[in-house]
Amino acid sequence: MAEITLDHIRHAYGPAKSRDDYALKELNHVWSDGGAYALLGPSGCGKTTLLNIISGLLTPSEGRILFGGKDVTGLPPEARNIAQVFQFPVVYDTMSVAENLAFPLKNRGVPAAEIKARVARVLDMLRLTAIADKKAAGLTADNKQKISLGRGMVRDDVAAILFDEPLTVIDPHLKWELRAGLKRLHREFGHTMVYVTHDQTEALTFADKVVVMYAGEVVQVGTPEELFLTPTHTFVGYFIGSPGMNVLPVTLEGTTARVGGEEVALPAAFAAPAGARVELGVRPEFVTLGAEGLAFTTTRVDDVGREKIVHGTIAGRDVAAILPEGAEVPAEPRARFRLDRINLYADDWRLAPA
Ligand code: ATP
Repeated sequence: MAEITLDHIRHAYGPAKSRDDYALKELNHVWSDGGAYALLGPSGCGKTTLLNIISGLLTPSEGRILFGGKDVTGLPPEARNIAQVFQFPVVYDTMSVAENLAFPLKNRGVPAAEIKARVARVLDMLRLTAIADKKAAGLTADNKQKISLGRGMVRDDVAAILFDEPLTVIDPHLKWELRAGLKRLHREFGHTMVYVTHDQTEALTFADKVVVMYAGEVVQVGTPEELFLTPTHTFVGYFIGSPGMNVLPVTLEGTTARVGGEEVALPAAFAAPAGARVELGVRPEFVTLGAEGLAFTTTRVDDVGREKIVHGTIAGRDVAAILPEGAEVPAEPRARFRLDRINLYADDWRLAPA
């Protein structure tokens, strides 16, 4: 396995006159050996471009990519020692499930006893043992994709395994089970894994570190908890969570933020650069509705069973609050924000307390 270093990576598909012409703007990251990383972001943010640069299908316009300190920027895919799992299954129909898994190891001359042991582990972790001897041809799409995942994971000589939205064809109820299987395999085999998805649940449950991409940039690399509690960019706050973080324009006065004509006490003093657009971010989970706080006009209540999502406005801006199951929505509510869960943003980037 190897550490992956992205060194000043930029990529433009056509002539690049300005920063906006780059599909990837400037990536500088070191992803650790044995780490499970999810690349998460909306359609068009550059996930596939980055994955192709890592696999070698694409050479970046600028910058270098290193595996374990070795520059591989100019190397073709076959010289990079990378395993890839795609959206749709790639299996040998005439082989059994176990033979499919053994194939990449046989090809590399791995001793038979080791092949047997590794294949058995992968079959077990992906819950394929019961159908190990069945031919792949007659299997469901779910099981075929499990074989593809297993074929990626069975090798121990790869620099990294890249997954490109591998659970697209999988039945939603099976996804949890498969992600758990991937996690078990990762814990046991310690591969460096890069997993592309636009599904936040998939990213958060798969990865130790989630790399959030937006418009050709990496806006945050963090644990699921960090992305939830301290989004470094308003986009992360909006993209992670359902509904996403509320964002309200404010003016700062020391430890107070002014929202419309009202005041919110802040956990600390914040200073924003002169002229910056300042916003307060608070997740719906940390908004309570009661008799005190900011005037809140309810527009809609979504009762989703385990909780109520109350949509409304504060000073003309949309704000959502999540109330626990059984809680009543007050008739003329006022909204309070949990003090230690407020983040402040200047021109979309999170401010540290002054
Ligand atoms: P998706 O989730 O839809 O696959 P993505 O996050 O993987 O999106 P990319 O496919 O990497 O995003 O695309 C990033 C940007 O580069 C987009 O603006 C896209 O239109 C552009 N792009 C991607 N491939 C090409 C190409 N072959 N030629 C020109 N532009 C491209």
